[in-house]
This record gives sequence, C-alpha cells and structure tokens, in this order.
Amino acid sequence: MGGTIHPGILVEKPKIIHTKTFSCDNDHPIVWYTFDEDNKAMCGYCSTQFIYEPKDSYVNKILKGSG
Ligand SMILES: [Zn+2]
Repeated sequence: MGGTIHPGILVEKPKIIHTKTFSCDNDHPIVWYTFDEDNKAMCGYCSTQFIYEPKDSYVNKILKGSG
C-alpha cells in the first residue's frame, strides 16, 4: 500500500495578474501577495503560481491587433 493521490491537485498554468498586489483564496483563507522584482509569486497555501503582466502590454496587444 502506498501512494496518496490527491485528485484535484494538478500543476496548472501560472495565473496572469495585472496588478502588483493580488489576493488568493483558492480553498484556503484569503492571503495577499505582492510581486517580486521578477514579477513572479507563488501562493504558499495552494502553490498556485502567478505572473505579473503590466496592463500596458496587454492593451498594446489589442491595439496592434486592430489596425
Ligand atoms: Zn492560494
């Protein structure tokens, strides 16, 4: 016997956040994080990874698309 499988705990893609400060409450008490200089952060509770993406670049993509 052995092997404890936790269905539902999967490695997912990092979440894109457009603000330097964000909160995570994914099946745990809400916690707030601030991105590092690397613009990366990981939730200590659910190990979800977050990546900071400035809104400007997001808007630029849209503007580039139409034109
Ligand atoms: Zn979390």
